[in-house]
Amino acid sequence: MPDDMRRQGFETLAIHAGQEPERTTGAVVVPIFQTSTFAQEAVGKHKGYEYARTGNPTRHALETCLAALEAGEWGLAFASGMAATDAVAHLLSSGDHVVMGDDVYGGTYRLFARVFDRLGVTLTAVDMRDPRTVRRALRKRTRIVWIETPTNPMLKVVDIAAVTGLARKAGAISIVDNTFASPYLQQPLRLGADLVLHSTTKYIGGHSDVVGGMIVGVSEDLRDRLAFIQNAAGGVPGPLDAWLVLRGAKTLAVRMDRHSANGQAIAEWLIDHPRVTAVNYPGLPSHHGHDLARRQMRAFGGMLSFELKGGEAAAKRMAARTRIFALAESLGGVESLIEVPLAMTHGSVRGTKLAPPPGLVRLSVGLESLEDLIADLARAIGSGDPSGPKASRPRPGALASRV
Ligand SMILES: *Cc1c(COP(=O)(O)O)cnc(C)c1O
Repeated sequence: MPDDMRRQGFETLAIHAGQEPERTTGAVVVPIFQTSTFAQEAVGKHKGYEYARTGNPTRHALETCLAALEAGEWGLAFASGMAATDAVAHLLSSGDHVVMGDDVYGGTYRLFARVFDRLGVTLTAVDMRDPRTVRRALRKRTRIVWIETPTNPMLKVVDIAAVTGLARKAGAISIVDNTFASPYLQQPLRLGADLVLHSTTKYIGGHSDVVGGMIVGVSEDLRDRLAFIQNAAGGVPGPLDAWLVLRGAKTLAVRMDRHSANGQAIAEWLIDHPRVTAVNYPGLPSHHGHDLARRQMRAFGGMLSFELKGGEAAAKRMAARTRIFALAESLGGVESLIEVPLAMTHGSVRGTKLAPPPGLVRLSVGLESLEDLIADLARAIGSGDPSGPKASRPRPGALASRV
Protein backbone atom coordinates (compact mmCIF):
# COMPACT_ATOMS: atom_id res chain seq x y z
CA MET A 1 0.00 0.00 0.00
CA PRO A 2 1.42 3.48 -0.85
CA ASP A 3 2.33 5.55 2.21
CA ASP A 4 -0.24 8.31 1.60
CA MET A 5 -2.98 5.65 1.55
CA ARG A 6 -1.72 4.25 4.83
CA ARG A 7 -2.43 7.59 6.52
CA GLN A 8 -5.99 7.96 5.26
CA GLY A 9 -9.13 7.16 7.23
CA PHE A 10 -11.41 4.22 6.51
CA GLU A 11 -14.15 6.30 4.86
CA THR A 12 -11.63 8.03 2.57
CA LEU A 13 -10.06 4.73 1.54
CA ALA A 14 -13.49 3.23 0.84
CA ILE A 15 -14.21 5.98 -1.67
CA HIS A 16 -10.74 6.57 -3.15
CA ALA A 17 -8.37 3.62 -2.72
CA GLY A 18 -7.75 2.13 -6.16
CA GLN A 19 -10.25 4.60 -7.62
CA GLU A 20 -8.28 7.52 -9.07
CA PRO A 21 -10.10 9.31 -11.94
CA GLU A 22 -9.74 7.21 -15.08
CA ARG A 23 -6.71 8.32 -17.13
CA THR A 24 -8.05 8.59 -20.68
CA THR A 25 -11.37 10.35 -19.92
CA GLY A 26 -11.20 11.61 -16.33
CA ALA A 27 -14.27 9.53 -15.38
CA VAL A 28 -14.62 9.89 -11.59
CA VAL A 29 -16.08 6.42 -11.22
CA VAL A 30 -14.00 3.40 -12.20
CA PRO A 31 -15.49 2.18 -15.52
CA ILE A 32 -16.82 -1.33 -16.03
CA PHE A 33 -14.09 -2.69 -18.31
CA GLN A 34 -16.36 -5.18 -20.06
CA THR A 35 -13.67 -6.81 -22.17
CA SER A 36 -12.11 -10.26 -22.23
CA THR A 37 -8.76 -9.26 -23.71
CA PHE A 38 -6.40 -6.29 -24.14
CA ALA A 39 -4.49 -5.32 -27.29
CA GLN A 40 -0.70 -5.45 -27.16
CA GLU A 41 1.54 -2.98 -29.02
CA ALA A 42 4.13 -5.66 -29.67
CA VAL A 43 4.38 -9.20 -28.37
CA GLY A 44 4.54 -8.92 -24.59
CA LYS A 45 4.36 -5.08 -24.67
CA HIS A 46 1.13 -4.07 -22.93
CA LYS A 47 -0.29 -1.76 -20.24
CA GLY A 48 -0.42 -4.38 -17.47
CA TYR A 49 -3.39 -6.35 -18.77
CA GLU A 50 -3.42 -9.26 -21.23
CA TYR A 51 -6.40 -11.53 -20.66
CA ALA A 52 -9.26 -10.75 -18.28
CA ARG A 53 -9.12 -13.97 -16.20
CA THR A 54 -5.60 -12.96 -15.19
CA GLY A 55 -6.39 -9.29 -14.64
CA ASN A 56 -9.09 -6.69 -15.29
CA PRO A 57 -8.90 -2.99 -14.28
CA THR A 58 -12.34 -2.91 -12.61
CA ARG A 59 -11.50 -6.00 -10.58
CA HIS A 60 -8.07 -4.56 -9.80
CA ALA A 61 -9.66 -1.38 -8.40
CA LEU A 62 -11.85 -3.52 -6.12
CA GLU A 63 -8.87 -5.61 -4.99
CA THR A 64 -6.87 -2.47 -4.16
CA CYS A 65 -9.77 -0.89 -2.28
CA LEU A 66 -10.57 -3.90 -0.10
CA ALA A 67 -6.89 -4.52 0.65
CA ALA A 68 -6.76 -0.96 2.00
CA LEU A 69 -9.96 -1.38 4.03
CA GLU A 70 -8.61 -4.54 5.70
CA ALA A 71 -5.20 -2.92 6.37
CA GLY A 72 -3.63 -5.51 4.07
CA GLU A 73 -1.04 -5.31 1.28
CA TRP A 74 -3.00 -7.08 -1.44
CA GLY A 75 -6.48 -8.37 -2.30
CA LEU A 76 -7.75 -11.05 -4.67
CA ALA A 77 -11.37 -10.99 -5.83
CA PHE A 78 -13.41 -14.10 -6.58
CA ALA A 79 -16.77 -14.94 -8.14
CA SER A 80 -18.26 -15.84 -4.72
CA GLY A 81 -17.29 -16.25 -1.10
CA MET A 82 -17.09 -20.00 -1.72
CA ALA A 83 -14.78 -19.53 -4.72
CA ALA A 84 -12.47 -17.55 -2.40
CA THR A 85 -12.70 -20.32 0.22
CA ASP A 86 -11.95 -22.91 -2.45
CA ALA A 87 -8.81 -21.00 -3.47
CA VAL A 88 -7.57 -21.06 0.15
CA ALA A 89 -8.34 -24.77 0.41
CA HIS A 90 -6.18 -25.31 -2.68
CA LEU A 91 -3.15 -24.24 -0.63
CA LEU A 92 -3.42 -27.69 1.01
CA SER A 93 -1.96 -31.04 0.04
CA SER A 94 -3.13 -34.55 0.77
CA GLY A 95 -2.48 -35.41 4.43
CA ASP A 96 -2.86 -31.82 5.64
CA HIS A 97 -5.16 -31.01 8.54
CA VAL A 98 -7.51 -28.06 9.14
CA VAL A 99 -8.90 -26.77 12.44
CA MET A 100 -12.09 -24.73 12.17
CA GLY A 101 -14.83 -23.33 14.36
CA ASP A 102 -17.71 -25.74 14.94
CA ASP A 103 -20.28 -23.26 13.66
CA VAL A 104 -18.52 -21.71 10.68
CA TYR A 105 -20.59 -20.96 7.59
CA GLY A 106 -22.18 -24.25 6.47
CA GLY A 107 -20.75 -24.00 2.96
CA THR A 108 -17.22 -23.67 4.36
CA TYR A 109 -17.64 -26.81 6.45
CA ARG A 110 -19.19 -28.65 3.49
CA LEU A 111 -16.31 -27.76 1.15
CA PHE A 112 -13.68 -29.14 3.53
CA ALA A 113 -15.72 -32.09 4.84
CA ARG A 114 -17.24 -33.27 1.54
CA VAL A 115 -14.97 -32.11 -1.28
CA PHE A 116 -11.44 -31.79 0.11
CA ASP A 117 -11.85 -34.88 2.30
CA ARG A 118 -11.73 -36.92 -0.93
CA LEU A 119 -8.36 -35.34 -1.64
CA GLY A 120 -7.01 -36.47 1.73
CA VAL A 121 -7.49 -33.29 3.77
CA THR A 122 -8.67 -33.91 7.34
CA LEU A 123 -10.70 -31.60 9.52
CA THR A 124 -11.33 -30.97 13.22
CA ALA A 125 -14.21 -28.63 14.19
CA VAL A 126 -14.07 -27.11 17.68
CA ASP A 127 -15.83 -24.46 19.75
CA MET A 128 -13.28 -21.66 19.40
CA ARG A 129 -14.63 -19.54 22.27
CA ASP A 130 -12.03 -21.23 24.45
CA PRO A 131 -8.61 -20.98 22.74
CA ARG A 132 -7.45 -24.04 24.73
CA THR A 133 -9.76 -26.25 22.65
CA VAL A 134 -7.98 -24.91 19.56
CA ARG A 135 -4.57 -25.71 21.05
CA ARG A 136 -5.67 -29.28 21.81
CA ALA A 137 -6.92 -29.74 18.22
CA LEU A 138 -3.63 -28.70 16.57
CA ARG A 139 -1.55 -31.47 14.97
CA LYS A 140 1.81 -31.70 13.24
CA ARG A 141 0.12 -31.50 9.84
CA THR A 142 -2.29 -28.65 10.77
CA ARG A 143 -1.82 -26.12 7.96
CA ILE A 144 -4.90 -23.91 8.31
CA VAL A 145 -6.80 -22.54 11.32
CA TRP A 146 -10.14 -21.23 10.09
CA ILE A 147 -11.82 -18.65 12.33
CA GLU A 148 -15.22 -17.03 12.00
CA THR A 149 -16.36 -14.37 14.47
CA PRO A 150 -19.05 -13.45 15.31
CA THR A 151 -20.44 -16.81 14.23
CA ASN A 152 -23.63 -17.74 12.47
CA PRO A 153 -26.31 -18.11 13.84
CA MET A 154 -25.28 -18.12 17.54
CA LEU A 155 -23.08 -14.98 17.39
CA LYS A 156 -20.26 -16.61 19.32
CA VAL A 157 -17.22 -14.36 19.65
CA VAL A 158 -13.73 -15.79 19.15
CA ASP A 159 -10.53 -14.15 20.45
CA ILE A 160 -8.76 -13.45 17.16
CA ALA A 161 -5.41 -12.45 18.69
CA ALA A 162 -5.28 -15.55 20.92
CA VAL A 163 -6.26 -18.07 18.25
CA THR A 164 -4.11 -16.59 15.48
CA GLY A 165 -1.19 -16.61 17.95
CA LEU A 166 -1.67 -20.34 18.53
CA ALA A 167 -1.82 -20.96 14.77
CA ARG A 168 1.41 -19.04 14.20
CA LYS A 169 3.23 -21.03 16.89
CA ALA A 170 2.01 -24.25 15.27
CA GLY A 171 3.22 -23.12 11.83
CA ALA A 172 -0.32 -22.97 10.43
CA ILE A 173 -1.92 -20.22 8.33
CA SER A 174 -4.67 -18.43 10.22
CA ILE A 175 -7.63 -17.09 8.30
CA VAL A 176 -10.62 -15.10 9.53
CA ASP A 177 -13.90 -15.13 7.63
CA ASN A 178 -14.80 -11.49 8.37
CA THR A 179 -18.10 -11.49 6.47
CA PHE A 180 -20.34 -10.83 9.50
CA ALA A 181 -18.32 -7.95 10.92
CA SER A 182 -16.95 -6.32 7.74
CA PRO A 183 -13.59 -4.49 7.85
CA TYR A 184 -15.29 -1.41 9.31
CA LEU A 185 -16.13 -3.23 12.54
CA GLN A 186 -13.14 -5.57 12.80
CA GLN A 187 -9.70 -5.83 11.14
CA PRO A 188 -8.28 -9.31 11.76
CA LEU A 189 -4.92 -8.67 10.01
CA ARG A 190 -4.15 -6.13 12.75
CA LEU A 191 -4.89 -8.85 15.31
CA GLY A 192 -2.43 -11.34 13.83
CA ALA A 193 -4.40 -13.14 11.11
CA ASP A 194 -2.49 -14.17 7.96
CA LEU A 195 -5.54 -13.90 5.70
CA VAL A 196 -9.01 -12.35 5.78
CA LEU A 197 -11.83 -13.72 3.66
CA HIS A 198 -15.17 -12.15 2.71
CA SER A 199 -18.34 -13.12 1.07
CA THR A 200 -18.69 -9.66 -0.50
CA THR A 201 -22.24 -10.77 -1.30
CA LYS A 202 -23.11 -9.62 2.22
CA TYR A 203 -22.17 -6.33 3.93
CA ILE A 204 -19.47 -5.12 1.52
CA GLY A 205 -21.75 -5.39 -1.53
CA GLY A 206 -24.51 -4.43 0.84
CA HIS A 207 -27.47 -4.25 -1.54
CA SER A 208 -28.34 -7.92 -2.16
CA ASP A 209 -27.64 -7.51 -5.87
CA VAL A 210 -24.34 -9.33 -6.41
CA VAL A 211 -22.45 -12.49 -5.37
CA GLY A 212 -18.72 -12.15 -4.75
CA GLY A 213 -15.73 -13.10 -2.61
CA MET A 214 -12.39 -11.61 -1.56
CA ILE A 215 -9.15 -12.65 0.12
CA VAL A 216 -6.84 -10.04 1.66
CA GLY A 217 -3.40 -10.58 3.16
CA VAL A 218 0.03 -9.16 3.83
CA SER A 219 2.55 -11.91 2.98
CA GLU A 220 3.95 -11.76 -0.57
CA ASP A 221 4.42 -15.53 -0.55
CA LEU A 222 0.72 -16.15 0.17
CA ARG A 223 -0.21 -13.55 -2.45
CA ASP A 224 1.86 -15.32 -5.10
CA ARG A 225 0.43 -18.74 -4.26
CA LEU A 226 -3.19 -17.53 -4.13
CA ALA A 227 -2.90 -15.34 -7.26
CA PHE A 228 -1.55 -18.40 -9.06
CA ILE A 229 -4.59 -20.43 -7.92
CA GLN A 230 -6.96 -17.56 -8.81
CA ASN A 231 -5.61 -17.52 -12.37
CA ALA A 232 -5.07 -21.27 -12.71
CA ALA A 233 -8.52 -22.28 -11.42
CA GLY A 234 -10.28 -19.16 -12.76
CA GLY A 235 -12.97 -18.42 -10.18
CA VAL A 236 -12.89 -14.69 -10.89
CA PRO A 237 -15.78 -12.17 -10.83
CA GLY A 238 -16.88 -10.44 -14.02
CA PRO A 239 -16.27 -6.68 -14.32
CA LEU A 240 -19.89 -5.71 -13.63
CA ASP A 241 -19.95 -7.76 -10.43
CA ALA A 242 -16.60 -6.30 -9.33
CA TRP A 243 -18.02 -2.81 -9.99
CA LEU A 244 -21.18 -3.47 -7.94
CA VAL A 245 -19.10 -4.64 -4.97
CA LEU A 246 -16.83 -1.59 -5.32
CA ARG A 247 -19.84 0.72 -5.35
CA GLY A 248 -21.21 -0.98 -2.24
CA ALA A 249 -17.90 -0.62 -0.41
CA LYS A 250 -18.00 3.19 -0.73
CA THR A 251 -20.85 3.43 1.81
CA LEU A 252 -19.80 0.56 4.07
CA ALA A 253 -18.93 2.75 7.07
CA VAL A 254 -22.21 4.66 7.22
CA ARG A 255 -24.21 1.52 6.58
CA MET A 256 -22.44 -0.45 9.32
CA ASP A 257 -23.00 2.36 11.84
CA ARG A 258 -26.74 2.21 11.20
CA HIS A 259 -26.88 -1.59 10.99
CA SER A 260 -25.20 -1.63 14.40
CA ALA A 261 -27.48 1.02 15.94
CA ASN A 262 -30.61 -0.77 14.67
CA GLY A 263 -29.24 -4.17 15.73
CA GLN A 264 -28.47 -2.93 19.23
CA ALA A 265 -31.90 -1.33 19.68
CA ILE A 266 -33.72 -4.44 18.43
CA ALA A 267 -31.63 -6.74 20.65
CA GLU A 268 -32.48 -4.55 23.67
CA TRP A 269 -36.16 -4.57 22.73
CA LEU A 270 -36.24 -8.35 22.23
CA ILE A 271 -34.57 -9.15 25.54
CA ASP A 272 -37.52 -7.61 27.40
CA HIS A 273 -40.16 -9.42 25.33
CA PRO A 274 -42.12 -12.03 27.32
CA ARG A 275 -42.16 -14.56 24.44
CA VAL A 276 -38.40 -14.38 23.89
CA THR A 277 -36.25 -16.70 26.03
CA ALA A 278 -32.75 -15.77 24.81
CA VAL A 279 -31.13 -13.10 22.62
CA ASN A 280 -27.72 -13.63 20.99
CA TYR A 281 -26.10 -10.27 20.24
CA PRO A 282 -22.55 -9.33 21.23
CA GLY A 283 -23.67 -5.78 22.01
CA LEU A 284 -25.65 -6.98 25.02
CA PRO A 285 -23.69 -6.89 28.30
CA SER A 286 -25.23 -10.31 29.12
CA HIS A 287 -23.58 -11.88 26.02
CA HIS A 288 -20.67 -14.23 26.82
CA GLY A 289 -18.35 -12.43 24.41
CA HIS A 290 -19.38 -8.83 25.12
CA ASP A 291 -16.08 -7.68 26.65
CA LEU A 292 -14.01 -9.42 23.99
CA ALA A 293 -16.22 -7.98 21.23
CA ARG A 294 -15.74 -4.49 22.72
CA ARG A 295 -11.99 -4.99 22.46
CA GLN A 296 -11.78 -6.37 18.95
CA MET A 297 -14.81 -4.75 17.26
CA ARG A 298 -15.76 -1.10 16.71
CA ALA A 299 -19.48 -1.89 17.11
CA PHE A 300 -21.56 -5.06 17.09
CA GLY A 301 -23.19 -5.18 13.67
CA GLY A 302 -26.63 -5.99 12.34
CA MET A 303 -26.82 -9.75 12.85
CA LEU A 304 -28.63 -11.25 15.81
CA SER A 305 -30.62 -14.32 16.73
CA PHE A 306 -33.15 -15.09 19.44
CA GLU A 307 -35.17 -17.99 20.79
CA LEU A 308 -38.94 -17.94 20.92
CA LYS A 309 -41.14 -19.82 23.35
CA GLY A 310 -42.90 -22.56 21.41
CA GLY A 311 -39.92 -23.90 19.48
CA GLU A 312 -39.67 -24.43 15.75
CA ALA A 313 -43.42 -24.04 15.09
CA ALA A 314 -43.48 -20.64 16.81
CA ALA A 315 -40.30 -19.56 14.99
CA LYS A 316 -41.74 -20.56 11.59
CA ARG A 317 -45.05 -18.87 12.36
CA MET A 318 -43.33 -15.64 13.29
CA ALA A 319 -40.99 -15.68 10.29
CA ALA A 320 -43.95 -16.02 7.94
CA ARG A 321 -45.79 -13.07 9.54
CA THR A 322 -43.34 -10.18 9.21
CA ARG A 323 -44.06 -7.67 6.45
CA ILE A 324 -40.89 -5.57 6.35
CA PHE A 325 -38.43 -8.33 7.30
CA ALA A 326 -38.39 -10.52 4.18
CA LEU A 327 -38.30 -14.27 4.82
CA ALA A 328 -35.06 -15.14 3.08
CA GLU A 329 -31.59 -16.61 3.44
CA SER A 330 -28.49 -14.38 3.07
CA LEU A 331 -27.71 -11.25 5.06
CA GLY A 332 -25.95 -7.92 5.08
CA GLY A 333 -28.14 -5.95 2.66
CA VAL A 334 -29.97 -2.68 3.22
CA GLU A 335 -33.25 -4.58 3.57
CA SER A 336 -34.06 -6.52 6.74
CA LEU A 337 -34.31 -10.30 6.49
CA ILE A 338 -35.67 -12.97 8.83
CA GLU A 339 -35.10 -16.73 8.77
CA VAL A 340 -35.34 -19.89 10.88
CA PRO A 341 -31.83 -21.41 10.79
CA LEU A 342 -32.81 -24.99 11.65
CA ALA A 343 -35.34 -25.12 8.80
CA MET A 344 -33.38 -22.99 6.31
CA THR A 345 -29.67 -22.02 6.35
CA HIS A 346 -28.67 -24.77 8.79
CA GLY A 347 -31.01 -27.56 7.64
CA SER A 348 -28.03 -29.77 6.78
CA VAL A 349 -26.93 -30.00 10.45
CA ARG A 350 -30.39 -30.89 11.82
CA GLY A 351 -30.07 -33.84 14.17
CA THR A 352 -26.35 -33.30 14.81
CA LYS A 353 -24.71 -31.62 17.79
CA LEU A 354 -24.16 -28.58 15.57
CA ALA A 355 -27.90 -28.02 15.10
CA PRO A 356 -29.15 -24.59 16.24
CA PRO A 357 -31.97 -24.48 18.82
CA PRO A 358 -35.35 -25.26 17.19
CA GLY A 359 -36.98 -21.99 18.29
CA LEU A 360 -34.11 -19.88 16.97
CA VAL A 361 -34.93 -16.97 14.65
CA ARG A 362 -32.11 -15.08 12.89
CA LEU A 363 -32.38 -11.45 11.83
CA SER A 364 -30.26 -9.49 9.41
CA VAL A 365 -31.26 -6.04 10.60
CA GLY A 366 -31.37 -3.59 7.70
CA LEU A 367 -31.53 0.15 7.33
CA GLU A 368 -35.28 0.80 7.39
CA SER A 369 -36.78 3.04 10.10
CA LEU A 370 -36.16 1.47 13.48
CA GLU A 371 -39.72 2.19 14.63
CA ASP A 372 -41.12 0.31 11.63
CA LEU A 373 -38.79 -2.65 12.18
CA ILE A 374 -39.77 -3.01 15.84
CA ALA A 375 -43.48 -2.63 15.06
CA ASP A 376 -43.09 -5.36 12.41
CA LEU A 377 -41.41 -7.74 14.86
CA ALA A 378 -43.95 -6.96 17.59
CA ARG A 379 -46.86 -7.72 15.28
CA ALA A 380 -45.25 -10.95 14.06
CA ILE A 381 -44.30 -12.28 17.50
CA GLY A 382 -47.71 -11.37 18.90
CA SER A 383 -48.39 -11.16 22.61
CA GLY A 384 -51.28 -13.57 23.07
CA ASP A 385 -53.17 -10.41 23.98
CA PRO A 386 -56.07 -9.67 21.58
CA SER A 387 -55.65 -5.91 22.15
CA GLY A 388 -52.38 -6.22 20.22
CA PRO A 389 -48.68 -6.13 20.97
CA LYS A 390 -47.86 -4.08 24.02
CA ALA A 391 -44.45 -2.93 22.90
CA SER A 392 -44.56 -1.55 19.39
CA ARG A 393 -42.26 1.44 19.87
CA PRO A 394 -38.60 1.40 20.86
CA ARG A 395 -37.83 2.39 24.45
CA PRO A 396 -36.75 6.01 24.84
CA GLY A 397 -33.00 6.20 24.49
CA ALA A 398 -32.75 3.00 22.47
CA LEU A 399 -31.50 4.96 19.47
CA ALA A 400 -28.66 6.47 21.50
CA SER A 401 -27.02 3.08 22.06
CA ARG A 402 -23.29 2.80 21.59
CA VAL A 403 -22.22 2.38 17.97
C1 LIG B 1 -22.45 -16.26 2.59
C2 LIG B 1 -21.23 -16.60 3.35
C3 LIG B 1 -20.18 -17.30 2.75
C4 LIG B 1 -20.24 -17.81 1.33
O1 LIG B 1 -20.27 -16.77 0.43
P1 LIG B 1 -21.01 -16.82 -1.01
O2 LIG B 1 -20.77 -15.45 -1.55
O3 LIG B 1 -22.44 -17.14 -0.77
O4 LIG B 1 -20.32 -17.88 -1.81
C5 LIG B 1 -19.05 -17.55 3.52
N1 LIG B 1 -18.98 -17.14 4.81
C6 LIG B 1 -19.98 -16.49 5.41
C7 LIG B 1 -19.84 -16.07 6.84
C8 LIG B 1 -21.14 -16.19 4.71
O5 LIG B 1 -22.15 -15.54 5.32
